[in-house]
Amino acid sequence: PAPRQRLPKWLKRPLPKPGMSYTSHVIDDLNLVTVCESAKCPNRTECWSHKTATLMILGNVCTRPCGFCSIAKGKTETVQIDEPERVAEAAERLGLKHVVITSVTRDDLPDGGADHFYKCILAVRERTGADIEVLTPDFRGDRKAIHRVIEARPDVFNHNTETVPRLYHRVRRNAVYQRTLDLLIQVKETDPSIATKSGLMLGLGETREEVLEVCADLRAAGCDMITIGQYLQPTPENLPVERFLPPEEFDEVGDQVRAMGFKLVASGPFVRSSYNAGEMAAVLGTD
Ligand code: SF4
Ligand code: SF4
Repeated sequence: PAPRQRLPKWLKRPLPKPGMSYTSHVIDDLNLVTVCESAKCPNRTECWSHKTATLMILGNVCTRPCGFCSIAKGKTETVQIDEPERVAEAAERLGLKHVVITSVTRDDLPDGGADHFYKCILAVRERTGADIEVLTPDFRGDRKAIHRVIEARPDVFNHNTETVPRLYHRVRRNAVYQRTLDLLIQVKETDPSIATKSGLMLGLGETREEVLEVCADLRAAGCDMITIGQYLQPTPENLPVERFLPPEEFDEVGDQVRAMGFKLVASGPFVRSSYNAGEMAAVLGTD
């Protein structure tokens, strides 16, 4: 593999301080996984201090081979029936205000894990007043599975587009661009009170024009919120970064996308799908 690329100066950030160990302790104690930690997300200090965390359910082995993602691929784990309760307990003990529940893609399960999402949402709602965002896989476009998650009425339904359709075969193999749009459309059509959200990574070889086209498609799909951030290569085996966009370019894209009429647009080098999710939801009034 190619050597790791050097980061431009605007992407250098101090590492999170040890003061956050209580959060890690509770998560370990309940045998859970946060994306915040497993992805070594640079926003931990900020998100955790705002009482936002992203919990991963359904194990940490994925059935899809996305080129940008460092999650292990292969034999998946057994679905743990007590996981919804543990997720709820973590949310309660950590006093989370905004819980993001996400998962690997489970093409091996008949419903892709939709019913497990349903149970996690209900369990968190039962024990906390937190608002709940789900960041789901595409459930292979299975409308019944998607409907199951909608039925649990999460405050925010987030499903990432990740990149422009031309690059799907490299970046997001086994996903289908239109299927992602259709999922967001289904959520809005079924329950317009649920805020919909999607995210894009830049720096994978896309053009500005392509990015704006995707955003226009998302707006046409009724998507309320969008996150746009810099792709960073998580391990040397993952796709290399084609380009580091300077912060001003993110500002410019953000302005162009905002003009399309989204309720909320977050665009910047450090923006992640769940970055400041609580603040974004608060602006929308889902709190
Ligand atoms: Fe990673 Fe999701 Fe792709 Fe699986 S489907 S490899 S978890 S991005
Ligand atoms: Fe966790 Fe998402 Fe915040 Fe990163 S951006 S620390 S993954 S909640």
